Amino acid sequence: MPKPRLLLHVCCAPCSTHVIEKLREDYELGCFFYGPNIHPEEEYEKRLKEARGYCANQGIEFLEGKYDKEGWLQAVKDHENDVEGGDRCKICYRYRLQRTAETAKNEGYDLFTSTLTVSPHKDADIINEIGEEIGRSTDVIFLSENFKKEHGYQISVQMSKDHGLYRQDYCGCVFSQR
Ligand code: SF4
Repeated sequence: MPKPRLLLHVCCAPCSTHVIEKLREDYELGCFFYGPNIHPEEEYEKRLKEARGYCANQGIEFLEGKYDKEGWLQAVKDHENDVEGGDRCKICYRYRLQRTAETAKNEGYDLFTSTLTVSPHKDADIINEIGEEIGRSTDVIFLSENFKKEHGYQISVQMSKDHGLYRQDYCGCVFSQR
């Protein structure tokens, strides 16, 4: 029986390492790098290159989303000074998951999910709630997960070191960089 096809939203290569390992047994995976939040553009290119290279190394299909930073900035307008983890981040999760769901649908995937929950700075319940809501409205199943469970984050840090991957020290947007 063929495995269900799952499109994984990838925020960066380090976060994808453990998540890919965890999911690939049960799903035929595709990775969708989508980071209109990432600032500056050189940083975007750096993370893109690492994510693409890691997927190629793992033999996994790789898709790149559009770097629509103007649309993303417009979406988070008036939330520039929110604390990390607050409303700006909820808008940011929604923005990225919405495009992932649409891409999954257009490309014929059965499910979608995101690497975002591997981060210890991100609340998996909030991400899962948004993902499930988008899943219902786009008619693609969202896989609710909390990839930081069972030392998921620590494993991803170790795997990144083992593969010599670049690891950034801020979430991504210009506001988190400050
Ligand atoms: S801190 Fe991270 S999750 Fe929050 S808005 Fe910025 S890039 Fe998005």
